[in-house]
Amino acid sequence: MVRVRVIVVGGGIGGLALAAGLRRQGFDVTVLERDTDVTATGGYHITLDGRAQEALRRLVPPETVERLLASSSALRLRDPDAFWDRQGRLLGHGPRLDDSPSVDIDRITLRSLLADAVGEDLHLGRTVTGLGHADDGTPRVVLADGSIHRCDLLVGADGAHSLVSRHLAGGPTSAPARIVGFSGRTAAENLSPLERRRLGTRSGMVIAPRGAALYVGFLDPVGNAVLDAPGRRAAITTGPTYIWGAMFPESAETDSIRGLRGAELLDAILARFRRQGWGERPLEVMARTDPGSVAAFRFNAASSRARDLAPWPAGRVTALGDAVHATPPTAGMGAGAAIRDAASLLTHLREVTDGSCTLSVAVSRFEAGMRVRGSEILVSAMRTVRWILATDTPLGAVVTATAAPVIAAVGGLRRRR
Ligand SMILES: Cc1cc2nc3c(=O)[nH]c(=O)nc-3n(C[C@H](O)[C@H](O)[C@H](O)COP(=O)(O)OP(=O)(O)OC[C@H]3O[C@@H](n4cnc5c(N)ncnc54)[C@H](O)[C@@H]3O)c2cc1C
Repeated sequence: MVRVRVIVVGGGIGGLALAAGLRRQGFDVTVLERDTDVTATGGYHITLDGRAQEALRRLVPPETVERLLASSSALRLRDPDAFWDRQGRLLGHGPRLDDSPSVDIDRITLRSLLADAVGEDLHLGRTVTGLGHADDGTPRVVLADGSIHRCDLLVGADGAHSLVSRHLAGGPTSAPARIVGFSGRTAAENLSPLERRRLGTRSGMVIAPRGAALYVGFLDPVGNAVLDAPGRRAAITTGPTYIWGAMFPESAETDSIRGLRGAELLDAILARFRRQGWGERPLEVMARTDPGSVAAFRFNAASSRARDLAPWPAGRVTALGDAVHATPPTAGMGAGAAIRDAASLLTHLREVTDGSCTLSVAVSRFEAGMRVRGSEILVSAMRTVRWILATDTPLGAVVTATAAPVIAAVGGLRRRR
């Protein structure tokens, strides 16, 4: 059997999923991650669709899948998504979710479970600062502490601002998507009974004039558990919770909010929505949030054209996930795609170890599939980004402001009949 030593740069979702799979298949793998604690990471919930779950089953041991499902909230147990206007009036519903195989899980819970599956092959507090090749052509990485590590295959799973992809492509592989997101979490029990009833057991979205948007996600890994196995649960969310994401177009005003922290940041977000004519009802979920949970992040996006992704010749250095197809969270598919990349790379690397192809052929096959996957999720995520940005034009603002009350009134009449 051909042995392949792999170094993975980045222990986020994709890097850990890949390393768990490689370890399980007997590969020699090392993950270098700059964070010193896997739970010290931001983010709200991650949606894993049926394809991402199927990929995970190929990567992690069955007991990890079981713990993951016991810590996830099932979409099929939720009411259909809702769309509201900025006064909190219902505009319409999304499709029924009864048949949806998708699950939602806290990003921190998911990352912790994957890190457990990688065990001692995960090295925390290791920042990669440079990469190159040894005289024999094998890749090597340089760490901030000056140490040098060699391998047969180097995989950049180092996220949207990837050092590895930049090295391969000769420049950045993604650019700001012109939207800044702010997220926080609010326990359902902290909301007024009226607002709790309005939001219900579902996720929802408000898109209003001048590019202001609000996503409210419902997460309940206990009440809506995918797998009712309390002993296996590792969820950090222990009661019904609304996880919200506010979005504003990039501007000097948005930038000034982005620099704030905690209660000051929350107050500035609320003040901005109020100045833009939002009613108090849709703002309650933010007003009652734990200020310590509020964070800001800039959306980054790669090109949505498959041929623009991974624009380098296949070789002993490759990349996956956001490092190649950085995706705004507007489609909830970035983490799932990184996991599917990991499963695909593992499949192709097994062809190398059983002698049926060379390493560069395996990498080339993997990158071809990743381009298609990346393009698919970017097209979907950018649809919402473009919609939000369109409401920030003079025409878009007028259309949104006039159409929303009409749709809400018609919807109200229909429901009363
Ligand atoms: C803080 C954060 C919160 C997020 N929250 C959500 C969310 O709530 N919902 C959602 O749908 N998507 C969210 N995303 C995006 C989603 O998690 C990504 O699409 C998905 O994780 C892609 O996985 P990835 O492995 O490619 O990158 P990531 O999961 O971003 O992992 C990249 C990892 O590489 C590490 N790294 C970077 N540079 C170096 C270096 N030089 N040396 C060593 N390590 C390095 C980083 O510390 C990070 O852990 C979030 C991303 C981040 C970073």
